[in-house]
Amino acid sequence: MRVSVVGGGISGLGAAWELMRRGHEVTLFEQGSRLGGKLQTATIDSIRVELGPDSYLRRNSSANELIESLDLSEISPAAGKALLYTRSGTQPIPAGLNLGTPLRAQQAITNHLVPPSARLRAAIGTLFPSLLPGGLSDDLGTIVTNRYGRRWADANVEPLVGGINANTIYGLSAQTSAPTIVNGPPPAPPTGGPTRPTFGTPSGGLSTLINRLEEALVAGGCRMLTSSPVLSIERRGPSEVLITTPTSVHSSQRLLLALPAYQSASLLGPLFGEGLDLLRTIHYSSVSMLIGYSKEVLPRHLLDVSGILVERDLGLLTTAISIASNKWPDWTGQTGTLLRISTGSLYDRRHLRTKDSELQETLTLEATQILDHKLPMSWERIVRWDRSFPHFQPYHSQLIAKLDTDLFDRFHGDIGVTGAYINGSGIPTCIATARLRAQQLVSV
Ligand SMILES: Cc1cc2nc3c(=O)[nH]c(=O)nc-3n(C[C@H](O)[C@H](O)[C@H](O)COP(=O)(O)OP(=O)(O)OC[C@H]3O[C@@H](n4cnc5c(N)ncnc54)[C@H](O)[C@@H]3O)c2cc1C
Repeated sequence: MRVSVVGGGISGLGAAWELMRRGHEVTLFEQGSRLGGKLQTATIDSIRVELGPDSYLRRNSSANELIESLDLSEISPAAGKALLYTRSGTQPIPAGLNLGTPLRAQQAITNHLVPPSARLRAAIGTLFPSLLPGGLSDDLGTIVTNRYGRRWADANVEPLVGGINANTIYGLSAQTSAPTIVNGPPPAPPTGGPTRPTFGTPSGGLSTLINRLEEALVAGGCRMLTSSPVLSIERRGPSEVLITTPTSVHSSQRLLLALPAYQSASLLGPLFGEGLDLLRTIHYSSVSMLIGYSKEVLPRHLLDVSGILVERDLGLLTTAISIASNKWPDWTGQTGTLLRISTGSLYDRRHLRTKDSELQETLTLEATQILDHKLPMSWERIVRWDRSFPHFQPYHSQLIAKLDTDLFDRFHGDIGVTGAYINGSGIPTCIATARLRAQQLVSV
């Protein structure tokens, strides 16, 4: 079957990979001059840096499988200690919690981020979850507050899960954003067996994965059209979709849009008329990052710290500092410190109104305050990711089910959608979702 994929991020590439392996004739359209979308490894002043994501969760095996099929090697973070910056300085984030929630009453009782009364409240919630209300909600903030108390939710869950989603946990779908809190963590590996690290990344950076994937797709006969923005699509009749770029019109039997929701909405809008409101209701957060390199090393007590999360109500722009030079074992041998300082969320848009030079200055000052140490920077770079994190509202999966039904009613299975807004924005989820949706598209 002739299948077109629009979007050359990890979702589009994952879909193309699945279709190629099933023997379909694939053409992929990417508007930019390079593939990878948000996955982008750069070299600045001989230092390798990730400008977007820096790793993926290994628990969902989709990324690992892809890495293995492409014969790439993988590395895991070297330093695992994470800190939380609060009003009273930095404190270690307790280990062993399930996305900030306790699995055992003992973890609640010994938690130093909340006062004793809040620990007791969380311990009761851990021991007797069924006695507490809130079971029917899909609002993560409500669920966590009902189970463990508001103090616990704000101190332990908000900085982590809110931070990962560039959002707040209040008004966030629990099933989509934190399924392990609702369903429980995955089973522990058998005792005595090898313990698998939680995070991984390809040796050489995430662009290594993209480059190798591109090579494999081209070798498998896929047409990879970069610098080819799709301007419009048209369904001519059963199994005939026309895809228009500035230089060509391409005919295909099936089409998969692997784009952010708002970009899919723009392409589908003219075909749907007024009926495409669902895609437009998915809002996005914008984030920015200051990436900075210093020739100096951090003080000894910070050398085993991979990152620092920042409590929300301190008024700072910074949401997290990742110490890339501590985190990655392949940094060994290089000197100095590489920081990635993040800012922005759905409700904090101050960075969008701030010029690069001003943002750089503020984030550098805040890093000095948070690290309690001044690092003279050799270079700094602001990277902006506008409208990059989808907001998963409570009952998001029902919205997606309705969207799929609407698309099917209109296009009878010839046009499908995938992307980070469907099931979750982590790289492995994007790959798994794209592969599944590619399979479904050609099975109709
Ligand atoms: C700063 C940041 C940090 C992150 N950190 C992590 C992390 O550590 N771990 C993790 O698992 N996830 C992380 N994520 C999330 C993850 O990177 C994304 O969810 C994922 O990469 C999205 O991939 P995608 O292919 O769905 O979308 P994109 O990467 O956005 O790809 C869409 C592609 O479509 C192209 N396109 C758009 N319109 C058109 C058109 N009309 N015609 C042709 N092409 C078009 C775009 O140019 C782009 O290449 C992070 C995201 C950001 C922004």
